[in-house]
Amino acid sequence: MSLPLGNLKSLAKCPVCNKKYAPAVVTPLIEDDIHSTMHVSCPSCGVSSILFVSTNQWGIASIGVLTDLEGEESKKLLGKEKDIVSTDEALDAYMFFKEEAGKTRAILEKI
Ligand SMILES: [Zn+2]
Repeated sequence: MSLPLGNLKSLAKCPVCNKKYAPAVVTPLIEDDIHSTMHVSCPSCGVSSILFVSTNQWGIASIGVLTDLEGEESKKLLGKEKDIVSTDEALDAYMFFKEEAGKTRAILEKI
């Protein structure tokens, strides 16, 4: 099952200017049955993000990371090297930081 962009309306908002991505400039990077990674540029403010999207029977989870890479640069870096950071690893990191929110000092003291 691929992820048609029509299913991503809730994600289709720029995290910087908060305007809808209509139309967004999207460059697909990595895609399989349940994961999709894409580079998205906001047509309003020009800020770019890399979105990691995962779907399962319960819904869609996503993480967006701001980037200064262009779409084609992202494709060269991430499209070929699928194992740099997997979508599962990105989601694990997101869940870790979400659960540990507000505990930054305690985390840093453990290091
Ligand atoms: Zn924007």
